[in-house]
Amino acid sequence: MQALQASGSFVTHLECGKCRARYPAGQLHSLCTACSRPLLVRYDLPAVARALHKGDLPPREVSLWRYRELLPVTRPENIVTLGEGFTPLLALPRLGASLGLSRLLLKDEGQMPTLSFKSRGQAVALSMAKELGVTRVAIPSAGNAAGAMAAYAARAGLEAFVFMPEDVPQGNLMECDLLGARVFLVNGLISDCGKIVKDGQPLLHWFDLSTLKEPYRLEGKKTMGLELAEQLDWQLPDVIIYPTGGGTGLVGMWKAFDELEHMGWIGPKRPRLVSVQAAGCAPMVRAFEQGQEHAEPWQNAHTVAAGLRVPGAVGDFLILRAIRETGGTAVAVTDEELLADQKALARAEGVCAAPEGGATVSALRKLVASGWIKPQEQVVLFNTGHFIKYPYTAAPPVHLRKEAVDFARLA
Ligand SMILES: *Cc1c(COP(=O)(O)O)cnc(C)c1O
Repeated sequence: MQALQASGSFVTHLECGKCRARYPAGQLHSLCTACSRPLLVRYDLPAVARALHKGDLPPREVSLWRYRELLPVTRPENIVTLGEGFTPLLALPRLGASLGLSRLLLKDEGQMPTLSFKSRGQAVALSMAKELGVTRVAIPSAGNAAGAMAAYAARAGLEAFVFMPEDVPQGNLMECDLLGARVFLVNGLISDCGKIVKDGQPLLHWFDLSTLKEPYRLEGKKTMGLELAEQLDWQLPDVIIYPTGGGTGLVGMWKAFDELEHMGWIGPKRPRLVSVQAAGCAPMVRAFEQGQEHAEPWQNAHTVAAGLRVPGAVGDFLILRAIRETGGTAVAVTDEELLADQKALARAEGVCAAPEGGATVSALRKLVASGWIKPQEQVVLFNTGHFIKYPYTAAPPVHLRKEAVDFARLA
């Protein structure tokens, strides 16, 4: 293991993503106390670059903890892990050919311990919660974040409270219960659940793990960018297409690339970051198109892609900045389109994606058709979860009567 600094990590401080106010490392933090915006973890990157070299990575563990110098945990015994990270980067030759693309790839986050990329954020967040002495955690969630939080809380031995919309996918509900979390269904959206967690905090003394209110989930998510860079031998792709809800995935990767450039591991070239949202809940797309710095909350948010049903994001300005600074764009796709493409991806490539993953294929189609993506460009789609958590997106089965099978009709 490389020598870490005396503090045990390379974190120097936390910094508000908006007003740049500074906060000390090694303490619990939520949003910036000055402007109520997310805090970003800052590292002594020149020191990381001295301690860690690209060649150190290949023999390391096949999980996101291979990048421990770029993660905030101070003492290894605090790491709470289920082996998350280092998901495969799959070539999609058949789907690519059907769209005239020869270099189409998919990072398959469905192959995670909790079957979604939320494992990454919660592994790091619960490790830090443990390190900083938290005993009770709470989360508002559209589904997958709660499942992941419940899993890592169980593994860390922490008490977990989960607040989800009533119509959350059943699998998410059941996994949280199995994992021993206290589960509550709320007659509203994730934003209503978030208010309950906030209002209950002074009475129930839980630590709020809401997206981007808690600064370390983003550090876990950023490992998608680190992995992508390593898996592509430190040559980033031309375009990344990512399904966006609260935005930690996109913002995390953008942060990762920035850190890698500061370490001298990559150059200034960035993939164009594409944010995909559902037409029934597309606050980032609207704000991007209108040239806004912040996104107005979306009214009557609805989509089958539960992870995308986030009407307002506290990190909206970071999402929009990441898209604009990289020359990216934002695309809305209908539920009909994303479900058709979930199927198309499965049938062309054998990948059982979450509907959110299907949405990236729909966005790709539009961007190829408009000429925004060129045939020779290297494009990476992110499938953020596994289909099996959304069984209601499958077609109903055909029943046969064993006494009277009509084989003529099976062909
Ligand atoms: C949470 C979630 C998203 C949205 O991710 P953000 O990084 O918060 O924007 C997308 N897909 C799935 C499957 C999710 O669970």
